[in-house]
Amino acid sequence: MTSEKTLNSQELMALEDKFGAHNYHPLPVVLSKGEGVYVWDVEGKKYFDFLSAYSAVNQGHCHPKILKALNDQAQNLTLTSRAFYNDQLGKYEKFITDYFGYDRVLPMNTGVEAVETALKLCRKWAYEVKGTAPNQAKIIFASENFHGRTMAVISASVDPSSTKGFGPYMPGYQIIPYNDLEALEVALQDEDVAGFIVEPIQGEAGVVVPDEGYLKKAAELCRANHALFIADEVQTGIARTGKLLACDHENVKPDILILGKALSGGVFPVSAVLARDEIMLSIHPGEHGSTFGGNPLACAVAKAALEVIQEEKLAENADAMGKIFRQRMRGLIEKTDMVTLVRGKGLLNAIVVNDTEDSKTGWNMCMKMRDNGLLAKPTHGNKIRFAPPLVMNETQIHECCDIIEKTIIEF
Ligand code: PLP
Repeated sequence: MTSEKTLNSQELMALEDKFGAHNYHPLPVVLSKGEGVYVWDVEGKKYFDFLSAYSAVNQGHCHPKILKALNDQAQNLTLTSRAFYNDQLGKYEKFITDYFGYDRVLPMNTGVEAVETALKLCRKWAYEVKGTAPNQAKIIFASENFHGRTMAVISASVDPSSTKGFGPYMPGYQIIPYNDLEALEVALQDEDVAGFIVEPIQGEAGVVVPDEGYLKKAAELCRANHALFIADEVQTGIARTGKLLACDHENVKPDILILGKALSGGVFPVSAVLARDEIMLSIHPGEHGSTFGGNPLACAVAKAALEVIQEEKLAENADAMGKIFRQRMRGLIEKTDMVTLVRGKGLLNAIVVNDTEDSKTGWNMCMKMRDNGLLAKPTHGNKIRFAPPLVMNETQIHECCDIIEKTIIEF
């Protein structure tokens, strides 16, 4: 038997640096264990996780119910592909459509695949139902969006780090400012517009919360102009913002709902697109799919992950803990001029650091927070996103606010 040498953090980071693609810039910490709101590095130091794998681990790390579902299902059947039926998919499809109130679901794996699926559905609906002339369908996007990394999706990005060097881009898109209803109204005058895709809160852009009423009015404008209102809730969905969906804050029901990340509680990639019959049935057998989409393991895991959200009242907890968090952070603005703004909903929040977008201050603060036992990451330079698992309790959130406060005041 060969026994593998135990490597320390430096050695493990060096391996990634030497043998991996350099497509990420991780905070230097190497994690080997997670439980609930905590993660541990390979040297055994314990941290509060304030990123939750970009809001995928809403239910907390290694949730026992989700792991049980994973292990139980893995003993029986993991993958059939959609060439055959399996005994989990139909039950899961009924469960998730009841859960979110839609006619049908199309299961995929990663968030960006679900976004791609929604874009394809939107175009197909335009041609089959709305009656748009072939190849004329347009989709409207909001500026500063983040919907993932595939070619079709980056084609709608305005961030040069997403787009530069990857052209040519997908045609048939129009980009309008976020949180701008007038611009949307004008764009919707074009009758070739098939839909408008939007994040209810722009997570990657730095947790940008639109004005109250924006989503509701945007959905109404789409409806009035026979275009689909598509919500990308990959990051905001599944209890993160203090409601099951961020659209629920305005009682808006998207025509197409996109979910990912926390749909598996961060156990492995599970995503989904939900829509009513008229939209979903515009895609026919052989026109779209994925080998792993709807696999039995994913179905069992996602069902357990969604049950945990309800059983543990995680939306309600995110709402309550988020209020405490923002109140404490707003108090911090009065104690230091290093923070200029706190924004967010539920447990999806960000602080804006008093420095330029391209400054290193946000990164340096995150390094200090790491040393003080809390892991967070800047998004777009001077904004630090704070998105802990939703299982956080009141004592823990105060402890975390103490760490953040101490770190920033010392800065
Ligand atoms: N959509 C939104 C709003 C996201 O925040 C993300 C990822 O951060 C994605 C889509 C892409 O998800 P994935 O990285 O699983 O492809």
